[in-house]
Amino acid sequence: MTGHHDHDHGGQEIPSATALRVKALESLLVEKGLVDPAALDAIIDSYENKVGPRHGARVVARAWTDPAYKARLLADGSNAIAEVGFPGSQRAHVAVVENTPSLHNLVVCTLCSCYPSSVLGLPPVWYKSSAYRSRAVIDPRGVLRDFGLTLDEGVAVRVWDSTAELRYLVLPERPAGTEGMDEDALTALVSRDAMIGTAKVATP
Ligand code: FE
Repeated sequence: MTGHHDHDHGGQEIPSATALRVKALESLLVEKGLVDPAALDAIIDSYENKVGPRHGARVVARAWTDPAYKARLLADGSNAIAEVGFPGSQRAHVAVVENTPSLHNLVVCTLCSCYPSSVLGLPPVWYKSSAYRSRAVIDPRGVLRDFGLTLDEGVAVRVWDSTAELRYLVLPERPAGTEGMDEDALTALVSRDAMIGTAKVATP
């Protein structure tokens, strides 16, 4: 690996050779009646919104309930994530950044679409859009407002620019009212967007 662009750029305007081959294969399978495009969409939706982000949510919930784990996670994200047992988590380094009452973290890849796939699965379409990639840096508070998240003036916003070598995961604040919840119940609360930084974890 010698630079930022030595990886798959699913979000760029010009589709990669891999994307074109996948598209051609999908078209052929649909044409032959071998796959149902709606079923394919459901599978992709599952990876974007359910399977992938559940890994990250498990990591967050463990950090909320185990202070020693949280310390390891913030010190060395990749190894602490591997402790939870997700395959592929060693492929790219993941750094975990913690939200606090006075600091909110937001993750972007300004050049393309670098994303902590080992814990979040596939990136959402908006993450790869040029609008998000440029505005997240220029006007992060405006972007957050567009996502329905208005931060108090006293809260600092820090934007983290992911690369092929280092990707970021936000450790959101544990919401009030969850004191009695165990790791499984907490895992269910943590959304993908909260781990990108475009949302908070809502009080249940
Ligand atoms: Fe990228």
